[in-house]
Amino acid sequence: MYKQVILNHLLDYLKIKNVVIKKSGKVIMLECPFCKTQPLSANIIPNTSVINCYKCNKKYNLMDLVKYIENKTNEDEIYQYLKELLKIEVMTKKDEDELIKTLDFYEKNGFDLVPIEKNGKRPIEKDWTNKTHKSKEEWLEWIRNGLNIGVKTGVRSGITIIDIDQKPIPEEIRLMVGNTLIQETKKGFHLFYKYDKDLPKTRIEELKIDIETTGGQVVLYPSIVENEKRNFISGDKIIEIPKDLKGLLKSKIELPALKSFSEKLRDDIKSEDFKLEVIKEGEGRNNFLIHLGGILRKELSIKQTEYVMNAVNNHFCSPPLSQKEIIAMVGQLDKYIEFDEQELALKVLQYLRNVEDGTRTDVERAIGEKKARTDKVLAYLVKEGYLLKRGKSYHIIKKADWKDTLIDIGKPVPFTVPYFYDVANYNWGDLLLIGSKAKYGKTHISMNIIKKLQEQGVKPYYISLETGSRFAKIALQLGLKEGDFYHTFCADPTKIELEPNAVTIIDWLLIVDKAKTDLIFRHFIEQLNKTNGFLIIFQQLKQDSSWFAENMCKQFPALATRYLYENDNEGTYGKYIIDVVREPKPFGKKVFEIPCVYNWKTKELKRIDELNEEEGESGIPVKE
Ligand SMILES: [Zn+2]
Repeated sequence: MYKQVILNHLLDYLKIKNVVIKKSGKVIMLECPFCKTQPLSANIIPNTSVINCYKCNKKYNLMDLVKYIENKTNEDEIYQYLKELLKIEVMTKKDEDELIKTLDFYEKNGFDLVPIEKNGKRPIEKDWTNKTHKSKEEWLEWIRNGLNIGVKTGVRSGITIIDIDQKPIPEEIRLMVGNTLIQETKKGFHLFYKYDKDLPKTRIEELKIDIETTGGQVVLYPSIVENEKRNFISGDKIIEIPKDLKGLLKSKIELPALKSFSEKLRDDIKSEDFKLEVIKEGEGRNNFLIHLGGILRKELSIKQTEYVMNAVNNHFCSPPLSQKEIIAMVGQLDKYIEFDEQELALKVLQYLRNVEDGTRTDVERAIGEKKARTDKVLAYLVKEGYLLKRGKSYHIIKKADWKDTLIDIGKPVPFTVPYFYDVANYNWGDLLLIGSKAKYGKTHISMNIIKKLQEQGVKPYYISLETGSRFAKIALQLGLKEGDFYHTFCADPTKIELEPNAVTIIDWLLIVDKAKTDLIFRHFIEQLNKTNGFLIIFQQLKQDSSWFAENMCKQFPALATRYLYENDNEGTYGKYIIDVVREPKPFGKKVFEIPCVYNWKTKELKRIDELNEEEGESGIPVKE
């Protein structure tokens, strides 16, 4: 994709090459470099990066121009040249080769990495000190998603890093550094050494040095922090810390007072540096953990089980299994502990929903069951977070929300609806239908909507009807973090239960059988009435871009729209076509189409009019 991003910098290149350009409104005319005709004979075709010259009757792009103007032929080299000339932040093939080489080095040295927020230094993974990520493939995925990476210092990766907070390195220290790996940062340097247990994690103010070891992490190449890329400036190996440097540091570390046992315990827990090597590779780590998980899962929820398994994995397994393996294992667990009372549990929930709360005896009577089975079901529902037990009575969780929603029906939603804010008025209980074809970026649009809602303080619910985790990648690329939205997978749309007063996005509805479609839509409308939520559904379109079951699609939604590409084979430019508006915005202009542009680098989909406002510039969309 980097190629398209680079080609979109057409205008920047023309400016650098002093090509005569004349703008009038949205039309950009220029002197054609091939025929140099005056008056200007060429223009940039609106919403593209292609030039058309009516004099020489040629259509050409940035690649054609560079080949002609600079007499170059090798396209890979031209991309690299343009990237550097125009300072475009994309990854070319050459960058990628260099990156792979470095990641190999990290892997070979046993680095344990953590995903870090875009352009910053904070880990984005919850409970990250308890997780293990040692595979190159996983790291590469983070980086491709635009994230930064950090290395867990200390025992986790077998390294101690000396973080020097000034430039240049003071002379007395520089002489002691040795030939080891050094990373340059905006304000200083990181010296990499083999893990040294004698050096604690601390700050030595006098030397402007931080010692980073167990419990910490350091952001690594190719991360970009405050718009500055980190780079290695020397060394291709990691050595033991030289004796004199270690001596200097130790002499400057303020001696901690003798610690009592409880202080020591507290520090150990904080730094998690009390690794007990119980089970080694080849001694059945998998087997041990899955059995343990099975036992835990009897009493703990999925989340709690995963937490304990992570902690045990990291402290009792050497080396620990990867995060992926643990997650897969936790996913497996439910297979072994199928709850055999699902139907009864549903009955109990329905009963409690109607009566708001009840004691065990109430429940027992209502569902006509024996004490033992009732107790089992109630315990299960409490454990899984459906019910709350207060004193002797059981409550449905979130019951309070359910009670006051009736008053809110028909009230305007308290947020701006992304993309369609000036088309219609939106109320709680509304359905918004977006039609799209396969491979037309619907999951990108979903995540863009979630981002725009999250920015307004809304935490949406995302339900995927397809397996796979593509949405998570896109979310990270857009800068969303864990905890920004809820997500789940559901294979059967008629089983979806909406949350009260919440925004839910369903990705996506395939119309297999028309009769069933009717059923599905009725189910959603019922759910909307019941929960007073706001529902956005992505629905499959026919190959010719028209609706399946058109009547239905036009009967229920407050807004029905289709997202189509300008050019069928290329996703940069697209538009929403508005088909149904139930309550148009009064005094608003009638809108039938909303043109949009997709930024391949940031994964953002924006309305073109928003783009022009932001940049006050031409129609060339991808500005880095
Ligand atoms: Zn020409």
